[in-house]
Amino acid sequence: MFTKDEKAVSLSSEPTDEGPVIASGVITAASSKQTDEVTSTQETKCCVVGGGPGGVMLSYLLARQGVTVILLEAHKDFDRKFRGDTIHPSVLEVMAELGLAERLHQLRHTKSYGPTIQTAKGPIRPIDFRRLKTEFPYIMLVPQVDFLNFMVEEAKQYPHFQVRMGALVHDLIEADGVVKGVRYRDENGIHEVQAVVTIGADGRHSRIRHLSGFEPIKTSPPMDVLWFNLPLLPEGPPVQGLFARFGVGRALILFERVDHLQAGYIFTKGHYQELKAAGLDALKRSIVEIEPRLENHLNSLKSWRDVTLLSVESSRCPRWYKDGLLLIGDAAHVMSPVGGVGINYAIHDAIEAANVLTEPLKLERLETRHLRQVQRRRQWPTQFIQGVQAFAQKQLAARVLNSSGPPKLPLLVRWLLKVPLVRDIPARLIAFGIGRSHIKL
Ligand SMILES: Cc1cc2nc3c(=O)[nH]c(=O)nc-3n(C[C@H](O)[C@H](O)[C@H](O)COP(=O)(O)OP(=O)(O)OC[C@H]3O[C@@H](n4cnc5c(N)ncnc54)[C@H](O)[C@@H]3O)c2cc1C
Repeated sequence: MFTKDEKAVSLSSEPTDEGPVIASGVITAASSKQTDEVTSTQETKCCVVGGGPGGVMLSYLLARQGVTVILLEAHKDFDRKFRGDTIHPSVLEVMAELGLAERLHQLRHTKSYGPTIQTAKGPIRPIDFRRLKTEFPYIMLVPQVDFLNFMVEEAKQYPHFQVRMGALVHDLIEADGVVKGVRYRDENGIHEVQAVVTIGADGRHSRIRHLSGFEPIKTSPPMDVLWFNLPLLPEGPPVQGLFARFGVGRALILFERVDHLQAGYIFTKGHYQELKAAGLDALKRSIVEIEPRLENHLNSLKSWRDVTLLSVESSRCPRWYKDGLLLIGDAAHVMSPVGGVGINYAIHDAIEAANVLTEPLKLERLETRHLRQVQRRRQWPTQFIQGVQAFAQKQLAARVLNSSGPPKLPLLVRWLLKVPLVRDIPARLIAFGIGRSHIKL
């Protein structure tokens, strides 16, 4: 694949916000053939690149229907720090449709029935999932590593499923403009997977998207987030699942986890270096200004290594497919963290892809129009929710972050919270989104 100097791809077992470490050198099919030999070739109906929520769910669903699928994941395990652990009611309903909900709930988890927002006049609960008609009126907080391991173990029950860990895909196999599979590198060398369809489920920095020549349209939400863990101490604020409090130009959110608190410090986009230069103690002081009850908790933050930056972005590809290839999840569209819906949208893409592609793959009649159909069905719900997120960012986040005094909830939001017919719209949108998919096969 590479000349010796071009060994551009390296595997890192350290998960980073950037995904697996992929150096910047350009890898071409031509250069690959010159030096590194392909040590093995496998054939399958579907090759899924990326073992995040979208890729793992699609692999499970196809294998369940008897479609051969090979899942390639660059990391050697599914452990990820702060990649989102939220499973929303719409996905829980799908898990019930698959007969997996009960076993999923046996994993260590907590539940959030809606955020408690601490205001100067006391706590308010603007969103209450318990008012929704669903068997699962809550967001389940389960470590993503546990969810992914759970789904992969379930998938392994099907003989049509194979997974390769530590398999970093670096190249597409193409003939006459049609994608025919991928090449990946692992500890043993370079391997080929030849596939009827290749799925790029390799996240926000998707290499498959890059190799396909697709360029996402990006918007830049006004904030970034620092994630860190804090201990559970008796004197802390009453988190009750999910807690939020606004400061001057800053906001804090807390998730109640089984044995700790997960904290998100929200600040104006692009100010990370400034924050870091001011030092960890200044960050802690700023957090205590927002929520004084966290003073003792913050002793556990020892260095910037305990803090993970989420550079917030929102994007979508105008096109998710080409002959032999489909993008899903973050590879096709990165969702803003408003509402924490990224995982759910990746999973719903996977469900729709399985609904549309299973029969054509089984009957060996897959055409590009099927791939187009997946984009058509998933694009408008994604676009709609991204619009809602942009509105929420403008109404709430930008106001809080630009405030020079204690921020107030905007009049429109306060009004919405009182109108019975409309007050549950935000809860419904977060819990179910729109155009949600169900298991058809
Ligand atoms: C810090 C942070 C916090 C977040 N918090 C939340 C949250 O609370 N709730 C929420 O819903 N969403 C959250 N998100 C977003 C959420 O993680 C994504 O929307 C979701 O994981 C997308 O799923 P996916 O399957 O499309 O891609 P990903 O989960 O990104 O998975 C992609 C996978 O592909 C693998 N991969 C990448 N390149 C290659 C390659 N070349 N070869 C093989 N494998 C490859 C990666 O290792 C990774 O495992 C967060 C994101 C970040 C960065």
